Parts: sequence; structure tokens; C-alpha cells
Amino acid sequence: DRSQIVNLAAGPSGLPLPVLLEASQGLLNFEGTGIGITEISHRSPEFAKLTKDLAAILRQHLNIPETHEVLFTQGGGCGQFSAVVLNLLARHRLRFPDLKDEDRVMDYVVTGSWSEKAALEARRLGGGVVNIVTDGRSGSANGKNFDSIPPVDTWRLSERPAFIYYCENETVDGVEFDGHSSTEQGATQFPFHLIPPDPSDPTFLAPLVADYSSSFLSRPIPQLERHALIYAGAQKNIGPSGLTIIIVRKDLLVDTVAAAKLGAAPVPTTFDYAVLAKAGSLYHTPPMFSMYVSLLVLRHFATLGGVPYLAKVNAQKAKKVYAAVKEGEAAGVFRPRVKDGSQSFMNVVFEVLGEGAEARFLASAQSAGLRGVKGHRSVGGIRTSLYNAVTLEQVDLLVEFLRGFIKAEA
Ligand code: PMP
Repeated sequence: DRSQIVNLAAGPSGLPLPVLLEASQGLLNFEGTGIGITEISHRSPEFAKLTKDLAAILRQHLNIPETHEVLFTQGGGCGQFSAVVLNLLARHRLRFPDLKDEDRVMDYVVTGSWSEKAALEARRLGGGVVNIVTDGRSGSANGKNFDSIPPVDTWRLSERPAFIYYCENETVDGVEFDGHSSTEQGATQFPFHLIPPDPSDPTFLAPLVADYSSSFLSRPIPQLERHALIYAGAQKNIGPSGLTIIIVRKDLLVDTVAAAKLGAAPVPTTFDYAVLAKAGSLYHTPPMFSMYVSLLVLRHFATLGGVPYLAKVNAQKAKKVYAAVKEGEAAGVFRPRVKDGSQSFMNVVFEVLGEGAEARFLASAQSAGLRGVKGHRSVGGIRTSLYNAVTLEQVDLLVEFLRGFIKAEA
């Protein structure tokens, strides 16, 4: 029975129950057509309306300006690791056809394993060089853990980058910009003021790209209008997997075929932002069921009070869980993996100290109905994810469990 379970998985993750009940109806009969959402044509007027409505409600929730398009596609966050490089280097090629590849610099801010993977993909695709602006492991005790956003005065941004890339929330490591802070010291924010002008158009900043996969819609996006591109997979905060949401400034919609004639790498058609935009996200069959459920989720959140409401509740949730982890730290039972001020509001990552203690934690969590709390296989430990659909009441159950475990172990 799902009412006995608290799903704290890192993604895919829980969705609001009223939405799932409504979606189960749409699976049988979408908008009174007598045809289910997974069975209807993506060219039907009903689905065309859904696509428009989904873009419109996202625009409302996040105040997306008219300078930016909202696109829906497939391929996930990992697909965007590649699409970003190909599209932005094509744009750079059109603006600077004569530059050598070593002068097409891609600035990667590496604060965890997802931004590291994105940087590796950029290296693999070539066509430019990768500059690691900062590495979040540099400040950790053993130099191996992503445990904080490094102080921005140590960053090495290029003077004329083709683009700058960062990941707002690192799902595996639990590191987030403007993260949770329990002290007066505060949090490290993204240094928008350090971004140089766009080398090809000084009315813009150098194109700024953000992976928002695991924090999208959990709170407002600071300086959204200054970003050239923001993307997110739906499967954490908004809907089922399969849907990738892209917010892209219109000057990034370039003729990549013309760029290829000048020597840029060809961009696969389904990865080409201009093609997707021109077709209104219907160049190919989009992830229709995921879009449908996402629309229901966004409407559900709107009735609760939208992003301001979600931001408030998510901050309360994180505060409660980090406080319990801190109590465990004082008792010698837990150790938070991330430094104060960089602690993710979405993914709380910590270690359980002592011989066999992690296994005991996982077994008791299982009996208590907590699911998805095992840390990512690459880093181990415990990770509790507190996405939008996790309620305050469920967080209270988690905190009660953590306190009980501390008492039993201390
Ligand atoms: N970026 C981040 C921050 C993520 O959390 C994930 C998935 N967990 C990805 C990228 C990769 O996304 P996908 O699995 O949708 O390709």
C-alpha cells in the first residue's frame, strides 16, 4: 500500500497522488476523446493544446520571458550534455568562422559528478577545448570528494568562452548553489557578476548554460533571463522520465547546417534546438505521457501556491532533515558529506559511522517504509531526496526515524 511508503528516491521519484489518480483516467480516455493519452496522435488538436498549455504554465511558474523559447524533447540530461556542446559550438562557428578549435573554449564549472560528466562529454565531442573553471573536490580533505562550491574568487573563467556551463544541483553529491546553511556564514551563490560579455555580442553575457535536472521548479531560478540555456529532465520534481525541458534564448537557435559548412560538427536533427523550436517541439514524437503528467503536476502545484509555495516548503523540509543529521553528527552517528552553505535542498547526503552501521540503517529504513535512501553507487553512504512531491508530514516521519536511529546507535 503506497500510503505506508515514504519514497525518498533520487529520481525517478514520487509524484503527487491526486495527479496519479487523474492521470490514470487520462490513460484510458484523454480529454473526452475516447482514446488514451498513450494512444492518441501527437498531431491531434487535443495534444497540440496540451503542448501549448504545458509551455504556458511553465512560463507562468518560472516567469520565463519572451526572449526565451520553451522546448520539450527526449534524451534526458545526458542527451543535453551532447546537445549543448554541438549547438553552442555551431553558434560560435557562425560568429567566429576563422578561429582555431583551441580558441573555442568551453568553460565548465565542476561541482559534482554530473557537471564532471558533462565536461567529459564536451572533451569527447571535441571541436573546442574544455577549461575547468573550478573543481569542487579541491577544497575537500582528501581532494576526492565533491563537498562544496569552491569560493568564487578562486574560479578561473576564460576571457572569451564559447559558453559557460554549470549544474545548479548535484544530485549524487548533494552540492547546490545557494545551498542550505545553518550558520550566519551563508551560502555560495552563482557569481553572475563574474561572467564576461558575449564575445560576439556585448549586449549579452557569454552564453550561460545550466543543468537544472534535480532542482527545476523547487524554487525560483535566480537570474533566469541571464541564462542562454536551462534544461532539466522531468523525472525528479515534475513528472515521469522521458521528458526533457529546455529553456533556450532565441539567439541560440542558429542554422547548424550553415555552421557545419564552415567546419563545425554536424548537429543531429533531433538535437538541433532551432529545428525543435521551429516545429513547436513536434519535429518528432515527443514523450507524450510524460508531458501529460507533467502538465497535471504543474496545475496541481499552481493550486497549492506555485513556486513560492514550493520554495518555502522545500526550505522547511531541508532544514528539518539537516538539523537531524547535525544531531547525529554531535552523537558521532552521522557525518554530513557536504559543507554548510553548499548543502542541497533536494538531496541530503551523509554517512553513517561505525562498523556495520550503514547496513543497519538501510535495514531499519526498509522496515520503517522509507525507500530510495541508499547513496549513489559511486559515492556510497545515505541520500534522502526531498523533491516537490515529498510532503512535510513525510519529512517528519524521516526525521523521527533518524532520531530513533541516533538514539539506538549512540
Ligand atoms: N544532470 C543531473 C543533475 C542529474 O541528476 C541527472 C540524472 N540523475 C542527469 C543530469 C542525467 O539525466 P538523465 O538520466 O535524464 O539523462
